[in-house]
Amino acid sequence: MNCDSRLIGKIAVITGGSRGIGAAIACKFASMGAAVAVIYAGNTEAAEAVCEKCRTLSGANAISYRCDVSDFTAVKETAAAIRRDLGGAHILVNNAGVTRDGLLAMMTEEAFDTVMDVNLKGAFNMTRHITPLMLRAKEGCIINISSASGLLGNAGQSNYSASKAGLIGLTKATARELASKGIRCNAIAPGFIRTDMTAAQEDSPLLATVPLGRMGSTEDVAEAAAYLACAGYVTGEVLRVDGGLAM
Ligand code: NAP
Repeated sequence: MNCDSRLIGKIAVITGGSRGIGAAIACKFASMGAAVAVIYAGNTEAAEAVCEKCRTLSGANAISYRCDVSDFTAVKETAAAIRRDLGGAHILVNNAGVTRDGLLAMMTEEAFDTVMDVNLKGAFNMTRHITPLMLRAKEGCIINISSASGLLGNAGQSNYSASKAGLIGLTKATARELASKGIRCNAIAPGFIRTDMTAAQEDSPLLATVPLGRMGSTEDVAEAAAYLACAGYVTGEVLRVDGGLAM
């Protein structure tokens, strides 16, 4: 079967879908036939542009939802809106993420809490409220966007590395807990991917530590997400898309 038509009839929810990696995943899934819900924090214009592109790619529906994933109640309301508008959910990509980098000795409580609340609790909130829709559909696929920083640890990113390592634990526990319900859960650990988040790292000396010697593209990550969306016997896996950085 051609993988590129395998998401026809599926509904995919992508957090942080307005920009960067999330936007590329939304477009990839739309090109495979899925209807998409694009969740974003504040950038309405960008989210609408992604939805417009998704609709032209597949003809399937694409709707944007402004929702702070760290807000349990707001996520509950957004999940209800997705059920009302699109009819359910088969795929969830927990991609929304932020950084507040700084040395541990100087890191503020706010910087630690914000990163944990968006990156880790946000994924819990979404999983908590979207999995009931998957249970109704009797199938589901969750993809958590972790990071090479979560595998290796990164100086100056104790908050971010902790949130991304936590996502791997959340992925494996969710995979074990929901396997019997036909719901798979995997993680992707990207390395240096060219987006707004890494705009300041284009000339970073750390790039020299990437065996493939270059940054990755958002499409590289979207290809991995497409694989996991279709890989029916893969669950609890962490797929590195990092040019060899964390091997
Ligand atoms: P990005 O370009 O900075 O985009 C971040 C996205 O997250 C935007 O769509 C943003 O919405 C959304 N967002 C931020 N806070 C949110 C919140 N509280 N609620 C809902 N949405 C929120 O990021 P990116 O580089 O594509 O990264 C995407 C994911 O990949 C992140 O989890 C990141 O940690 C991970 N990652 C990235 C890299 C990399 O090299 N880029 C490497 C490893 C892992 P608005 O547009 O509305 O602000």
